[in-house]
Amino acid sequence: MKNVLKAILGLVAVLTAILLFNAYNLGDVRPLGSPTKFMNINIQKAVDRLSGGIKIPTISQMNSNSIDYTHFVNFNRYLRREFPKVFDTLDSFVINKHSLILKWGGAQPLKKPILLMAHMDVVPIDEQSLDQWTYPPFGGKADEEIIWGRGTMDCKGNLFAIMESVDHLLSAGFQPTQTIFIAFGHDEEIGGNEGAKKSAEYFSKNGISFDFILDEGGGITSGKSFGIEKPVAFVAVSEKGYMTLELVARGTGGHSSMPKKETTIGILANAITKLQANPLPARLGGATKQMFQAIGAEMKLLPRIIMGNQWLFEGLIERIFSASPAGNAVIRTTTAPTIISAGVKDNVIPAQAKAIVNFRLIPGDSADGVIQMVKETINDDRVEVRQPEGQFGSEPAPVSDPTSIQFKQLTQKIYDVFPDVVVVPGISPGGTDTKHFLDLSPNIFRFSGLGKTDDSDMKRIHGIDERISIKAYEKGIQFYIHLMESLGKNQKL
Ligand SMILES: [Zn+2]
Repeated sequence: MKNVLKAILGLVAVLTAILLFNAYNLGDVRPLGSPTKFMNINIQKAVDRLSGGIKIPTISQMNSNSIDYTHFVNFNRYLRREFPKVFDTLDSFVINKHSLILKWGGAQPLKKPILLMAHMDVVPIDEQSLDQWTYPPFGGKADEEIIWGRGTMDCKGNLFAIMESVDHLLSAGFQPTQTIFIAFGHDEEIGGNEGAKKSAEYFSKNGISFDFILDEGGGITSGKSFGIEKPVAFVAVSEKGYMTLELVARGTGGHSSMPKKETTIGILANAITKLQANPLPARLGGATKQMFQAIGAEMKLLPRIIMGNQWLFEGLIERIFSASPAGNAVIRTTTAPTIISAGVKDNVIPAQAKAIVNFRLIPGDSADGVIQMVKETINDDRVEVRQPEGQFGSEPAPVSDPTSIQFKQLTQKIYDVFPDVVVVPGISPGGTDTKHFLDLSPNIFRFSGLGKTDDSDMKRIHGIDERISIKAYEKGIQFYIHLMESLGKNQKL
């Protein structure tokens, strides 16, 4: 008996040791480095230039006939007028009338170039909400602390911060070692087919590919939603795919006085209920695992043990994340019925009922695979599952390796400029223009290098009172300066 007890205690001790070892082995991913020295920049001038850019309503509309392209012409003119040194020194190429590529030739042209991206278009303003804006969305209002308006965060803040950084480095006599390309699309908010896609074709045609690509993405936010205290710099190493399916239930219609046991509406409702009750499988590997490790290393002992020992706690982690919409979106392909239609009259049973279901595909899943799983879950021949014709869709983006040198370099730059944050790799739930650049680099990162943003400000993106603090904007300029500076040398020094 004593021996059995001893054996059990021994096992418990070994298990505890393994759990603790794994928990602490998550380590601190923070590389060693000293915070960068900040450059003196003329922030007032930078604020004025961004504010002037906000005033130009470069609005994307799903119906391209309603887009007013004169604003895009004006925006391009404005950039040229405000940043003459940049346009005099860098080569510039206009792509499909309104998108812009800049090329800053490196001292060593054989080195693979890098690409920085942003977009010049913004989403429209919901007319109903116009009176809820503190300042007009295209007024470009800047007070002591904040720049207000549509596009300040998404994505003219990034765009102007990149321009300011180049301008600043040119004044300092800097030339990069690696060639730096900059690409600004003009229709990201409606899929990027006219802007980013055409720019990507330009690069392909000219045989240009990139060491790494940095586009907009998650910025620096409070760590609360990740369950940690430090602010998080979320760098997306992939983005989810997008697919919409149409479910069509067919049957015999008829008079509502003598309905069959099951009507088309009932059949369709049943199919949707099955989809909601059986979520697609969670995928906790790959980039998601890297995310768990990065946030786990910052957690208190118990959650740290759980995050560090996925081999044992996978089920628990899945349950915790599945419980909230944001957590659920991180670990699986999501299922969202968004439109339902059937019937024309209260006493007629419709012969057909239709539903539209939107899926956001996690890396590891594919459009074909999800369609197969949906059919198996519904398991009813009376319900047709099909992709609506002409519907936009994309597979999940390949995952860029978060252990690559390029990711580590980017991480280092983030820590240099934002020493109090935790860099967390992960999968972006939303799409960016990089979806058109997947063949041009294995290292595609989506991170808006602006300073820390209040969680409430994140919600203003695409919403009411979009804004950015001047402090965050200034940090953003410092970030892009530091990033580009590390890719070359100062010729004057
Ligand atoms: Zn954007």
